[in-house]
Amino acid sequence: MSFDLYFGPEHLRPALLAALLSVSLLIGLFAYLNSYTRRRYFQIWMVAWLFHALWLCLTCGLLEHPSALGSLARTWAVGISALFLSWGCLVFMGRSIPRRVVGLLVLFLALWSYVGTYHLDNPWHAQFPVFATLGVSSLLAARCFFSCRMRQEFAGATLLCAGFACWGGFLLAFPFAEMVSDLRAAVFVVATLLQLFIAVGMIVLVLEEARQLRRAAVDNSTLERGARAAAEGRLRSTEARYRQLFDQASEAIVITSCDGFEILELNLRARQLLGVSGELTPKSSLNDFLRRTNMPRSKAETQCLDRMLPDAPMNLTSRDGGTSAVAVRRSVIEMDGEPAYQFVLKEMTERFQLEQQIRQAEKLSALGQMISGIAHELNNPLAVIKGYLDLLLSRADVPMSMRGDLEKIAREGNRAAKLVRNFLSFARERPAQRGPVPLNELIESVVELGRFDALVAQSTITLDLDPGLPQVIADADQVQQVLVNLLHNSLQALACAPCPGRIVIRTRAVAAFVSIQIEDNGPGVPADLRGKIFEPFFTTKEVGVGTGLGLSIAHSIMSEHGGRITYTPAPTGGAGFTLEFPVPTETITTSEPAVPEPLAPLPAPFVAEQTGRVLVLDDEETLAEMVGEILTQFGHQVVVTSHPLQALDLLRRERFDVILSDYRMPQLDGRGFHAEVQRIDSELASRIIFLTGDVVSDETRAFFESVGNPRLAKPFQLETVARTVNDLLVSAAA
Ligand code: ADP
Repeated sequence: MSFDLYFGPEHLRPALLAALLSVSLLIGLFAYLNSYTRRRYFQIWMVAWLFHALWLCLTCGLLEHPSALGSLARTWAVGISALFLSWGCLVFMGRSIPRRVVGLLVLFLALWSYVGTYHLDNPWHAQFPVFATLGVSSLLAARCFFSCRMRQEFAGATLLCAGFACWGGFLLAFPFAEMVSDLRAAVFVVATLLQLFIAVGMIVLVLEEARQLRRAAVDNSTLERGARAAAEGRLRSTEARYRQLFDQASEAIVITSCDGFEILELNLRARQLLGVSGELTPKSSLNDFLRRTNMPRSKAETQCLDRMLPDAPMNLTSRDGGTSAVAVRRSVIEMDGEPAYQFVLKEMTERFQLEQQIRQAEKLSALGQMISGIAHELNNPLAVIKGYLDLLLSRADVPMSMRGDLEKIAREGNRAAKLVRNFLSFARERPAQRGPVPLNELIESVVELGRFDALVAQSTITLDLDPGLPQVIADADQVQQVLVNLLHNSLQALACAPCPGRIVIRTRAVAAFVSIQIEDNGPGVPADLRGKIFEPFFTTKEVGVGTGLGLSIAHSIMSEHGGRITYTPAPTGGAGFTLEFPVPTETITTSEPAVPEPLAPLPAPFVAEQTGRVLVLDDEETLAEMVGEILTQFGHQVVVTSHPLQALDLLRRERFDVILSDYRMPQLDGRGFHAEVQRIDSELASRIIFLTGDVVSDETRAFFESVGNPRLAKPFQLETVARTVNDLLVSAAA
């Protein structure tokens, strides 16, 4: 079987139709690519193939009806095809040709076709340059696809490069081949094959491009998925961090809606403060928990959050009924895309209590100053009254009927002296003598003293003392005074109570504090009075029974020790007081605990062993006279004066064995007087007995310690004065 590749003139028409079909395929392909990729060069190349198709149609038509106009159009169509192919290649390479130039070239080609058809003898002369241009344009297109192949490894680009290169060569050869009538059909068959080859190349390129785009899209989405997963991870960890901060914040944070303050979220502290344990009931409003301070809870008041001020203090009532003072700060935030309020609630109860304590302390200090002045003024007259009473009572010739009255005066005088002592300890004038105090032993000694009173009040005192209680640094006398006051109050309360009285005293060491609890089963302090009991002069007892100073003194003593006293009702319903002392950070080494000496036994009636000449000096004349009388009664020879200068004059002129001198005198104080006496008689200077108030300053105390002279505090006992004078005389005689 032989295969004949010869195409005779009779095959020209089918060959042309085949070429037309393959060009149509190319046009369809470029149209599709244009609509699919929106690239301009596909559009331009499509127009180029359209004119090529027109050229084929005209070639076909001219076979039947040759005409000059048809030849003109044919030359023009092939020229336009060449022009658009070149233009498309330039656009493909990123160059641009102004449309005006393209228009002018179209006109030029029309003119050229006209001249070639009507004015040239051989139409080949007109066609050859046009086909040459078309061939060069195709070679240009081949170059474009070659550079595309260099950028990306597309087999389609290789095919197109080869296709357009062959197509360019073919077009350059076309005018010569067309002139040989036997080759004309074969030329169009080759054209068809080349056009199909270009079409296949184009399809392969498009498919490869689509595949690459898909791969890029897949890669992109993988990358995006990775980035999204990382972003989600970051978001989750940020949210966990925020949640932890939110939950562990030391201040209560509540997030509410802007409308009605419905609680949306709250942290752990807020849950504690509001007393919310499980899930919140829907529509729980923060308004239900808060009200403005010092205002009754009315309906209007439940809307308080609408009109709150920044950092406004408010009262918070928790679910379990507990109340606390809070400062409320509000800010606007965004929650789930909606505006919301963030409330920060700061508990202020402790601060308010501290402020109240500071106010109380200031009040006490002002009062203390006033009281101390009054007490000093009272001390001297009291000393005189007491001294004279003692004198009178010591006389045997006082009738019994009068003695009873005098004893009543003495009792009341003692009460007044006790009051003055209370005033002075309230004013805190007596400097504290701090040392290690074993509280358990101190309590036992106080209870021992109170046993008789407890018996009278038909009450029992039970001790529950922690054996491992650490010592505290305190003034044992002051702590004793506090304990005596509290015990005395309990016994007074129990004396009026119907049931048998019971007092429990407990000691415990709790963290950095040592606490003493005194509880009784009496009537307790009514709730409305609890805020007042520590105020000075507040008393519910009858006149003469209570002074209203016991608890305020206890309060100021405890504050001075860095501790505190608080009232908590006892479980039995009676009163409960707790004293808290700070435990010193350093261990106490001393082995001598500062427990006050037990009360001394009553002295036997005193008889002077030695008598002498005594000078009594006090600017308070009556006091000086009273001391003089006391000493005279004990057999001394006494000279009394109220002027220090006069006293010095007497000392220069006369001989004295002992001097009793006031310390605080307007003209010359005790120190100055001592110095003057030393100049006159240094031996006598050591026998000056100084009379002082109950309170002496540090400076005065230092003076006494340096000179070593004895001192008598007013108001003094008759016998103490006589005993001190006697002791000095005895030692001088020795
Ligand atoms: P006074 O005892 O002189 O009245 P206080 O300052 O010691 O002054 O006490 C003030 C008030 O506190 C008392 O008047 C009494 O109403 C109340 N009070 C103190 N202790 C008790 C107690 N144990 N039981 C009941 N009320 C007490």
